[in-house]
Amino acid sequence: MNTNIETKCLHAGYEPGNGEPRQLPIWQSTTWKYSTSDDMGALFDLEAEGYFYTRLQNPTNDLAAKKLTELEGGYAGMLTSSGQAANFFAVFNICTAGDHFIASSAIYGGTYNLFLVTMAKMGIECTFVDQTLSEEELSKYFRPNTKAVFAETITNPTCTVLDIEKFAHLAHSHGVPLIIDNTFATPVNCRPIKWGADIVTHSTTKYIDGHGISVGGAIIDSGNFDWMAHKDKFPGLTTPDDSYHGIIYAEKFGKAAYITKATAQLMRDLGCIQSPQNAFYVNTGLESLHVRVQRHCENALKVATFLKAHEKVAWVHYPDLPDDEYHELASKYLPNGTCGVLCFAIKGGRERSIAFMDKLKLATIATHVADARTCLLHPASHTHRQLSDEQLAEAGISPDLIRYSVGLENADDLIADLSAALDSI
Ligand SMILES: *Cc1c(COP(=O)(O)O)cnc(C)c1O
Repeated sequence: MNTNIETKCLHAGYEPGNGEPRQLPIWQSTTWKYSTSDDMGALFDLEAEGYFYTRLQNPTNDLAAKKLTELEGGYAGMLTSSGQAANFFAVFNICTAGDHFIASSAIYGGTYNLFLVTMAKMGIECTFVDQTLSEEELSKYFRPNTKAVFAETITNPTCTVLDIEKFAHLAHSHGVPLIIDNTFATPVNCRPIKWGADIVTHSTTKYIDGHGISVGGAIIDSGNFDWMAHKDKFPGLTTPDDSYHGIIYAEKFGKAAYITKATAQLMRDLGCIQSPQNAFYVNTGLESLHVRVQRHCENALKVATFLKAHEKVAWVHYPDLPDDEYHELASKYLPNGTCGVLCFAIKGGRERSIAFMDKLKLATIATHVADARTCLLHPASHTHRQLSDEQLAEAGISPDLIRYSVGLENADDLIADLSAALDSI
């Protein structure tokens, strides 16, 4: 049925048959039983579909992933143990030692570190670029061994909106896929595949879970990238896999090639699977996602408007504010609202921003974002602590920046909390 996204949030994925449980069951089992040795052998050869071991696949995970895949308008999807694992797998599935990829310098600090430090140790090099540059300027960063382009729909923590079409065109004109981390926007507010992205990732830990109860991630493939048309660039998908009796993923699995390879090779060998219990939370979170995201955005706009008018506030950055630098891009890609996260600073610099944070009573200081409860942190002292001042500047993070994640409380109560803290400094 071709339903609207709100209906898909409730009904996509698990579709119970007659007399079956109404809610998605949790397959709390490591293993599956088979009658004959050949039955199970066929699964190991990727000749038959089915489950055998939860390190690779579990039905609860697959059904929750199926819902998210439908919400994103993708072809195939998988859940991972965390957002970090999702972004690592998304790139590592197509990049190997000696390869290079391009990422926006404004991405989440954890991903930045993964790409800059850890993947470099594997021989995979990432060049970080200013995502506001023109396509022509960005083209200069491509090399013959460049295999992917990576960016976030709305960056964490600076809340800049990506020109997705520009990035999709850039990636495709160099014969590589565009990978988009859509964590902050969620498929409710933006579906990057519609704008040309090939692969979408999520930290489901954020709005999708929504309640700060489980860490998880997801990868959704549009199935649109033609690996065979760029055969030499992606040998992992276009040449025989010796660890599966010479299967060629792109030939055997077509649009499902990328996710099948990530499951069959990366999950098998690295085992970053989400627990079925957490996949159940993801599925439950997705059911109310459209209601929560709308309220997060309404509240955030009220808070941003209050802060913007306050004399002690140096600046506010929230793309839904009509005079924000990124309002035009937000209106195009996220017409129903961006997200509940905004950033701002107190006049007087870093120390005063920190002093103000300590005065808040309702909003709590937490290493979290996109949660039902309002929380905040100071990236320069917390999430981005490892970065040098130069790297902070490159990521667009000023030392006084406060990341404030607006929850589902009554906006008047949040404003009263902010107002009292501002009065006291
Ligand atoms: C939190 C976050 C991640 C990492 O996700 P985890 O679930 O914490 O591993 C990746 N990307 C973005 C945009 C995030 O906000």
